Amino acid sequence: MTESLLPSSSDEIQEKLLSLVKTIKGQVLNAENLYVEVDWKKPMPAQKKNKPVTRNHEEQLSSLGKDVAGCTRCSLAGTRKNIVFGDGNARANIVFVGEAPGADEDEQGLPFVGRAGQLLTNIIKAMGLERKDVYICNILKCRPPGNRNPLPDEIRLCEPYLKQQLQLISPRIICALGAFAAKTLLKTETPITALRGRFHTYDGIKLMPTYHPAYLLRNPSAKKQVWEDVQLIMKEIEQSDRS
Ligand code: SF4
Repeated sequence: MTESLLPSSSDEIQEKLLSLVKTIKGQVLNAENLYVEVDWKKPMPAQKKNKPVTRNHEEQLSSLGKDVAGCTRCSLAGTRKNIVFGDGNARANIVFVGEAPGADEDEQGLPFVGRAGQLLTNIIKAMGLERKDVYICNILKCRPPGNRNPLPDEIRLCEPYLKQQLQLISPRIICALGAFAAKTLLKTETPITALRGRFHTYDGIKLMPTYHPAYLLRNPSAKKQVWEDVQLIMKEIEQSDRS
C-alpha cells in the first residue's frame, strides 16, 4: 500500500471507519422503507447459488403457467383481469408464498408489484439476493374481488397449482407471507404470532411463516421480527449447504 492511501491521523482513521460503516449499513437501511436492526457481529452468511436451472425445468414451469392461464375452476375466473401465476427462478432455494393477488398484481399479471411488493423486494435485497434469485407466488392465482379473503373452495381448487409449482421448483425453504398464507398452508388456526420464528413443514419442504409486507407497511415495528425470520432462512440454507 502506498503512503498516500494510509490515513495520516486518528481523525482520518475515524472518518474512514465511519464512512465504511455508513456504506455497509446503507446497503440495508437504504433499501427503501426497510429499517431493520442488524447484529453486525453476526453478518448474513454468504449467499449460495440456486440449483442450476435446466431448460427442462423452465419449460415445465412455463408449460404449467400456460395450463393455468385459461383456468375456470372457480368463480374468480369471471372477475380477474389477469392470472398471476408466479415469477422468478425456476430452481430457487427460496419460494415466497403470499395469499392472493391484489389490484396492482391483477392489473400487471405479476406477483407483489404494489407497495407491499416493493417492500418484499427490499427484504429480498437485505437478504443479499435479487428477485430473480427467488420465486414469488400466491396460494390463489386470481384476485378475489375487493381483496376479500379467499374462500375455502377457491383454495381447494387452486392449491394443486401451487403444489405443482413447488414440486417443479423444489425449493429448500418456503417463506409464507402473512397469517392467511401461513394458516392455510399449515392447515392450522394458530395465530401467525405463534407460528413465525420457527420452521414448519409443507409437503416435505421447510416452511417459515412471517408477517406479510402489507402488514409491515401498517406496523413498521414488526420489521425486526421479519428480519429475524429471514435470517433463520439464510442460516438454514447455509447449514444445508454444509451437510
Ligand atoms: S383462483 Fe385458481 S382455481 Fe380459481 S380460476 Fe384462478 S387459477 Fe383457477
